[in-house]
Amino acid sequence: MISVKDIMVILDKIPIWKQLIGLPSRIEALEKRVSELESKGITTGDSCPKCKAKTFELISTAPDPLFGEMGVQKRLYKCSACGFEESKNVDTFAS
Ligand SMILES: [Zn+2]
Repeated sequence: MISVKDIMVILDKIPIWKQLIGLPSRIEALEKRVSELESKGITTGDSCPKCKAKTFELISTAPDPLFGEMGVQKRLYKCSACGFEESKNVDTFAS
């Protein structure tokens, strides 16, 4: 007679079964992560130097007026949360 224990031993040999029994805890972890992200708002941007929100994003890129011909790009960043703006010069030839 096959016992429940025997069935579990057989099921343990099937890789997909192992993934399936791990799913509830993984989904739980993902749900927790999603709700954490939602409570913080959209987190695709960098940290804003002023308000620290993850809403500091690249607005525009243009050649630097002075060093544009040498490959220097002037990048304008803006925080959509507090409106803080900052421009950064990036040497595109160096990398
Ligand atoms: Zn900000």
